[in-house]
Amino acid sequence: MCGLFARRNAMTHSLPPVPVRVSPPITRRAALGAAAGALAAAALPGRRLLAALRPDAPGRVVVVGAGFAGLACAHELASRGYAVTVLEARDRIGGRVLSVPGFAGAGVVEGGATAIGAGDATWRSLAERFGLQLVEQRPFNLELVRVRLAGRTLPPAEARPIVEAVSRSIGTVAPLARIIDPFRPWLSPSATKIDRTSVQQWIGDALIEGPSTDAMRAMLTGIFGVPPERQSLLALLCRVAVGGLESFLEGRRRWRCAGGNGQLAERLAEPLRDGRLRLATPVEAIESGAEGMVVRTTGGEVLACDDVVLTAPPPTWERIQFAPGLPPFVRPQMGALVRYVAARRDPSWPVESGSPAGLGDGHLSVAFARMDDRTGPGGASHAIVVGQAGGAAADELAKAGDEALPRCRAAAADLLPDSVGELVTDRVFDWVNDPWSRCGAAFAAPGQVTTVGPFLRNGQGRLHFAGDFCSYAFGGTMEGALSTGLEIARKLAARDGVTDAK
Ligand SMILES: Cc1cc2nc3c(=O)[nH]c(=O)nc-3n(C[C@H](O)[C@H](O)[C@H](O)COP(=O)(O)OP(=O)(O)OC[C@H]3O[C@@H](n4cnc5c(N)ncnc54)[C@H](O)[C@@H]3O)c2cc1C
Repeated sequence: MCGLFARRNAMTHSLPPVPVRVSPPITRRAALGAAAGALAAAALPGRRLLAALRPDAPGRVVVVGAGFAGLACAHELASRGYAVTVLEARDRIGGRVLSVPGFAGAGVVEGGATAIGAGDATWRSLAERFGLQLVEQRPFNLELVRVRLAGRTLPPAEARPIVEAVSRSIGTVAPLARIIDPFRPWLSPSATKIDRTSVQQWIGDALIEGPSTDAMRAMLTGIFGVPPERQSLLALLCRVAVGGLESFLEGRRRWRCAGGNGQLAERLAEPLRDGRLRLATPVEAIESGAEGMVVRTTGGEVLACDDVVLTAPPPTWERIQFAPGLPPFVRPQMGALVRYVAARRDPSWPVESGSPAGLGDGHLSVAFARMDDRTGPGGASHAIVVGQAGGAAADELAKAGDEALPRCRAAAADLLPDSVGELVTDRVFDWVNDPWSRCGAAFAAPGQVTTVGPFLRNGQGRLHFAGDFCSYAFGGTMEGALSTGLEIARKLAARDGVTDAK
C-alpha cells in the first residue's frame, strides 16, 4: 500500500485535518503535497481553517457522517480539545433522523427515527442537557390492535388471541436474556450457539402456531426491516436484556421529542458550525498507514489525520475505497424500511382509548396513529398516521415508484379502518433508495454478533466505527448511534490521556 500521508512531526500533529485540493488518484507525492499545503494554509492568516488550529490539540480526527453517531462523537471530541472535522455527504445533518416541520400545518413529523425508548439513557441525558422536551406517548391498547393477514382484516374476536399469543411469546425469551451481556454479547455463555440461531427458529420453539406466527413475522419484519430467519436470536436478546420486555416493544416507543428529533442533531452540531462541519462532502477513500490516516473526498480534497471514525451506514461503504480493505465478513446487516406518514382531519377514535395500531402482511407491516398531538391550524383536529414497511414489503415499495404512495394509503386504511378521517396530506419516506442510507436500521444476521461485533468494537488500527450497526443493546436505534459515537470519543481520549472534557 502506498502511504497517502506525509510524515508526522510536531508541527503537523498540532494541525487540524486540513483539506487541500489535489487531483485524484492519490499518490504519495500528492499526499506530501497535501501536507505541505496544510502547513502553508496554516501559515496564512485569515483562512477559515485556522479557526480550528489548536497547538495543544491532542489529535486530529476526521468523522465520516453527520448523523447522530458522527455528531455525538465529534461534539465530544471537540469539547475535549481535539481538532475534529466532520464530512457529511448530504446537504443536511441528521442522517436517518429527518424531522419535517409544518406537515399539513399539523406540527413536526418524523420521516425516519421517531420513538425514544424507555431505556435510552444517552438520548434522555442529552435532551436534559440541551433543554429538549420529551413527551410520553400513549401506549397501544392491545384490545384495539388490528391484524390483517392474506388480505383479510380479522374481527376483534379473532385478532385478540393472536395479539395475546404474540405478546406471550415474547415473554419466553426473558429468562435467556438474563444471561446475556448486551454490551459485549460475544462474551455471554453459549454466545456462538445462540448467535447462530435465528429468531425464526425461536418462534418455532416458542410454540406459536398458525396466524400468530404470521402476525409475529409481520411485526418483527415491520419493526426491524429483515424477516425473522435473517435475525440473530442473540441480537434480539440483547435488546430484551437492556430493558426487560417492556423496553423491547412498548418501551421502545415510550417518548418522542417535542418539536422533532432533528433538534438534537442541531444542538450537537452547533459548536462545529465554525467550518469543522462540512456538508455535501462525500468521502470516497480512507487509507491507513503506520504514521496516520488519509481521507479523500469526491471533490478531490485530501485530509491527513490521526484517526478516522466511520459512521456511514454499511450499505454505503461500497462507495468508499478502503486501504487496507475491510475483511469480507465485515458487512453488518441492515434492515430495509419505508415509512408512510399521513395527516388526517377529524379522526373518529377517542384519545382516551389509546393509540390504534395494526399489523399485517400487506404493503405496510405495521401502522399506528399518533394520538398526543392532534391540533392542526385554526384548532382543527388532526392526527398523524404512521405506517412502516419492512423487509420484502419495503423492497417492493422501493421499486414501485409513483405507485408507492397510493399503495401505502390503501394499506394504512386497511390496517386502521376506524381511523380514516379526512386525508389532509401524506408522504412516503423511502430509505432503501436513499443513496446515503440504502437501508432502514441495523439488525445483526445469525452469526454476526459474535464475529462482526468484536471487529467493530476494536476497529481496524486507527479506523474506528460508530453507528446503530455497532450497538447490540440498542441496535438499529438513535440510542445505539449516540452511545457508540460517544464511546469512541471517550476511547480515543482515554488512549491519548485526555481525561476530562474541556
Ligand atoms: C423509517 C425508520 C424508522 C426508524 N425508527 C426509529 C425509531 O423509532 N427509534 C429509533 O431510535 N431509531 C429508529 N430508526 C433508526 C435510526 O434512524 C438510526 O438507528 C439512527 O438514526 C442511525 O444514526 P447513525 O448516525 O448511526 O447513521 P445515519 O443517521 O445514517 O448517519 C450516517 C451519515 O453518514 C452520511 N454518509 C453516508 N455515506 C457517506 C460518505 N461516503 N461520506 C460522508 N458521509 C456519508 C449519511 O449521509 C448520514 O448523514 C429508524 C430508521 C428508519 C429509517
